[in-house]
Amino acid sequence: MSTTEVAADAARQELGAEFEGEFVGPADSGYDEARTLFNAMIDKRPAVIARCASPNDVARVIAFARAHELPLAMRGGGHNGGGLGSVDDGVVADLSLLHSVSVDADARTVRVGGGCTWAEVDAATHEHGLAVPCGVISTTGVGGLTLGGGIGHLTRGYGLTIDNLLAAEVVLADGEQVTASADENADLFWALRGGGGNFGVVTEFTFRAHPVSDVVGGPTFWPLEQTAEVLAAYREFLPTLPRNATGFFCFHTVPPGPPFPEEIHLRKVCGVVWCIQGSDEEAEQAMAPMLAVGTPLMHGAARMPLPALNSAFDGLYGPGDQWYWRADFVDEIPDEAMARNQEWNDKMPSWKSGSHLYPIDGVAHDVGPEETPWAYRDSRWAQVIIGVDTDPASAPAQRDWTVG
Ligand SMILES: Cc1cc2nc3c(=O)[nH]c(=O)nc-3n(C[C@H](O)[C@H](O)[C@H](O)COP(=O)(O)OP(=O)(O)OC[C@H]3O[C@@H](n4cnc5c(N)ncnc54)[C@H](O)[C@@H]3O)c2cc1C
Repeated sequence: MSTTEVAADAARQELGAEFEGEFVGPADSGYDEARTLFNAMIDKRPAVIARCASPNDVARVIAFARAHELPLAMRGGGHNGGGLGSVDDGVVADLSLLHSVSVDADARTVRVGGGCTWAEVDAATHEHGLAVPCGVISTTGVGGLTLGGGIGHLTRGYGLTIDNLLAAEVVLADGEQVTASADENADLFWALRGGGGNFGVVTEFTFRAHPVSDVVGGPTFWPLEQTAEVLAAYREFLPTLPRNATGFFCFHTVPPGPPFPEEIHLRKVCGVVWCIQGSDEEAEQAMAPMLAVGTPLMHGAARMPLPALNSAFDGLYGPGDQWYWRADFVDEIPDEAMARNQEWNDKMPSWKSGSHLYPIDGVAHDVGPEETPWAYRDSRWAQVIIGVDTDPASAPAQRDWTVG
């Protein structure tokens, strides 16, 4: 193929009527929309985007890319920070049409299309009073989050997302379609659970679901100046909580709008974002030791359906923002980190920027280090730093602050 401009035409001609999905190329009117990723800092121009409607379509697209020696990327939810769900001048297999969700309430399992978002899964399981451990923003793709491990509000109580994966339907690089589970292709099943990707395209995941319906969730904020006291208390407090309760630590600027009280808009804060299963009394009891620390500016935890908590930040972080990410796994939060975190977060370059410490313990620690390739079972926290803004002109400032 002489130029990537003709890849979409070639795909249409060669795969023809047998292809059940659709192709979008640079000459098509929907191209810009189809190639746009969640992170507006990444701007890639694929030669062709193939929206796959079936596992056979996925196999056909892999074969097409191999035949033409074009680079190939799989796109799930399109959230990957570095844009791994797309590729310049290559073929994107967009899985978003593979989004069926089927719940077996009696068996407490759910089958999920490889291109689903967590919002779709959460909505379907919630109807049966069930939930699968997922991430904290519901527009994130099931595919990328699961294959990377999956940390969220239910990690302490029910493990990482991969700890709840029972089986996967996978299209391999040679087009073969296989099932991976503890009983079939067990080595592939092992690799899919945190092995870094590229073992094949997962067209369907089967997860174990858990009886979680309503939770007490939401944030408590303290002034950033109280970081030393609050974070020191939190690092001792969190591991003492029962597994049905958790809270990730955050540094943020209070968003300038409802539901946050106007008097604290744009104030820099540290905080805990709670997720507690059980009665209101149990939740109050669980949170009480932390609420007695320092002087909270706002306590916004309330009873809500789990999908409401899992999507509570979707509106703040919609598509199209500039994102720069850094993340690491840490074993301890040393004293020196208190002052350093306060100093650094005082310089957040926009109100959307921030950093989080997600607990990794509870059920995530029950799984042995060799049981999955996910290499951070010994860590106690995942720290994520995000420089985020709507304005492309501020991208260098977001990057500089995040990199440090
Ligand atoms: C706003 C936001 C919030 C987040 N919150 C969390 C969180 O709470 N917890 C957490 O653990 N992570 C979180 N993440 C990180 C997220 O899990 C990763 O960025 C993940 O890669 C996104 O998956 P995706 O399918 O949306 O992305 P994509 O960019 O579509 O894909 C990411 C990678 O996975 C591959 N991939 C996707 N689907 C498949 C599939 N079906 N088969 C094979 N390969 C596939 C892609 O090829 C690519 O390499 C968050 C990210 C964002 C942007």
